[in-house]
Amino acid sequence: MKLKNKIIIITGSRRGIGFGIAQEMAKEGAKIVISDINQKECEKACKVLEKKYNVKTLAVKCDVSNKDEVDNLIQQTIKKFKKIDILVNNAGIVKFGSVLDKTEKEWDLTLNINLRSVFFCTKAVVPHMIKQKSGKIISLASIAGFVGFDNISDYCASKGGIIAITKELALELAKYNINVNAIAPGIIETKMTQAMLKDKKQRENLLAQTPLGRVGKPADIGKAAVFLASDDSDFITGHTLVVDGGWLAH
Ligand code: NAP
Repeated sequence: MKLKNKIIIITGSRRGIGFGIAQEMAKEGAKIVISDINQKECEKACKVLEKKYNVKTLAVKCDVSNKDEVDNLIQQTIKKFKKIDILVNNAGIVKFGSVLDKTEKEWDLTLNINLRSVFFCTKAVVPHMIKQKSGKIISLASIAGFVGFDNISDYCASKGGIIAITKELALELAKYNINVNAIAPGIIETKMTQAMLKDKKQRENLLAQTPLGRVGKPADIGKAAVFLASDDSDFITGHTLVVDGGWLAH
């Protein structure tokens, strides 16, 4: 078991990629903090983990764009588990629309949930990791942080920002033995991509750009996250691990 008794917070993790990461980490013996915008849904997700993997969990409602709620998430975790080994910044949204139509409010919402949250969560968790003299931070970027995708200017900007801040934080936090890395998924089957993947033509187009010829699963990202959370990646920091079935190889 690669993560035996590690305490891991995953934001936006009651479903989708976040829950996929939670499941892969629970299989490796980690204690998981599920956090999302609905307490009841977090509790349901925790019950599944406890039943399936016999691990300890904690459910904490946390809107990652709200600093007070982020601070509370970290405090509740410390109260229950006394330490935090790994933070996974997973929560994210995407809203489609031309840059010409997008309002300031819509732009801010995406940037606040996808990127400002990384600033809030990092600021809240790092003092505890410094005290412990170790820690790992993993953030969900996207291939949309490397290449443009039509009609999601705010999303592309937020994911490019995650790739950049990952490198900066790696430099700043290395002296405390804190590793900071990101994962850039390609197209993964979740609610976020459901509408695109339901449309036959769009699905074919997406698959045509994925050399491995399939859509990714949350578990594909979960396995990459286990690697970056485990001791196997101790000499890796500032890196964005692309998990995209070959999309960016073009
Ligand atoms: P998803 O299916 O839409 O799930 C996102 C999760 O985040 C949901 O549980 C959602 O809660 C939660 N969430 C939304 N707003 C939040 C907030 N303000 N605070 C806390 N939690 C919030 O998305 P996903 O596909 O699993 O994506 C997870 C991460 O991977 C995101 O950062 C996304 O950008 C990134 N990513 C995904 C893909 C892909 O193809 N799916 C590709 C590249 C990168 P509710 O369920 O209550 O709405």
